[in-house]
Amino acid sequence: MSAIVIVGAQWGDEGKGKIVDLYTETADVVVRYAGGPNAGHTLVVGEERIVVRLIPSGILRPKARCIMGQGMVVDPAVLVGEIDALSVRGHSTEGRLFVSDRAHVIMPYHPEIDALREHAGSAPGGTKIGTTKRGIGPCYEDKAARRGIRMGDLRDLGRVQKLAERALSEWAPVILALGGALPDLNKIMGELAVFAKRLLPLITDTALLLEDAQKRGENILLEGAQGTLLDLDHGTYPFVTSSTAVAGGAAVGAGIGPTRIRRVVGITKGYATRVGEGPFPTELHDATGARIREAGSEFGSVTGRPRRTGWLDLPALRYAARVNGLDGLAVTKMDVLTGLPEVKVCVAYDTPEGRTRELPIDHLGTAQPVYQAFPGWSEVLASARVLADLPDTARTYLKFLSDETGVPVDLVSVGARRDETIVLRNPFAE
Ligand code: GDP
Repeated sequence: MSAIVIVGAQWGDEGKGKIVDLYTETADVVVRYAGGPNAGHTLVVGEERIVVRLIPSGILRPKARCIMGQGMVVDPAVLVGEIDALSVRGHSTEGRLFVSDRAHVIMPYHPEIDALREHAGSAPGGTKIGTTKRGIGPCYEDKAARRGIRMGDLRDLGRVQKLAERALSEWAPVILALGGALPDLNKIMGELAVFAKRLLPLITDTALLLEDAQKRGENILLEGAQGTLLDLDHGTYPFVTSSTAVAGGAAVGAGIGPTRIRRVVGITKGYATRVGEGPFPTELHDATGARIREAGSEFGSVTGRPRRTGWLDLPALRYAARVNGLDGLAVTKMDVLTGLPEVKVCVAYDTPEGRTRELPIDHLGTAQPVYQAFPGWSEVLASARVLADLPDTARTYLKFLSDETGVPVDLVSVGARRDETIVLRNPFAE
């Protein structure tokens, strides 16, 4: 038995979808442990490009069973839509997709509250936090306030109605104060009944399924969403997501004991991006930033929003290595840097207290990044399959990342396709 965690080491969008899909070749079970339909993993298989938001990326491997863990928040309409979209393309989820009965339900009023708040600039924290308006934050708020609705509750719609009435009585003053209209609960219940009928066969105690899988000695891949710097506790608060994105969240969100996790792999791009608001000290506002955005197609896979782009931040990567306990790095999108005369990396920060190699996470607005420049490369990297296929300059860059973080590089991704990858170590192999 081997359980491994794949976690984003930056601000999300690191290319986790591709890496999880690759590692799923040797996984029996793939579990998503946090977040909701804001993840938007993009998978490219042959000429097909598929975006999954809720369902674990492993679903494209016909032999893998996929679990949506109890740390997730699930929008039933989105989930049914995804199941249907996959089915139309010949990817059946029948008998191999399971949803935790303890995952929370995103009700139709949750995205409405998100939208009203974002419009009024009154997101929690008193600022715009740039949410994806999928209702994820308000759903987690209900969970923490102990008035949430869980997927298992869908077995009894009378109970759901009562819980929704209770939640709405708490939300009503908020909705009205933001200029919104109170939702029609009868309409909501009517729609929910249709989705519940479709989803009930998938809803189960998924922690027990995982226990059985472990007993059978199966390989379990625990898939993170978003990234370390968006984590509720470890991210750039308050510009964070409302769940535990870091590797520790895998134990809680999947219902698996921490001692069962064997290895944690962090995904980082060869540069950095961030979506929405919040500090991003290595952001590039110039032609190089625009070039990286175009070359890397850095536009949100769910929202289409242009992503902010910048140089890789080593203090941030070291921080990710520390809070996740990273055993390996998967470095993606190295091909995107092709053609740049030089590639820079932030190696330290200048702060009023002096220079530091640590990430001054609560002072990123004022800290000044200190850069080290590396010669770029002009070679197209997509055909590289072993490290020796890469130009010396790219290899030097990768070695520097590994040396400076103290984490070995397990994988280098040189294109969006499955085969455009250099695999140095399979995390399940040991
Ligand atoms: P995720 O949420 O972390 O999975 O990130 P995205 O879905 O935003 O994935 C990043 C995008 O980059 C997707 O369109 C991938 O197909 C693509 N991608 C992944 N790895 C690479 C790579 O090494 N090079 C290039 N050019 N594209 C990649």
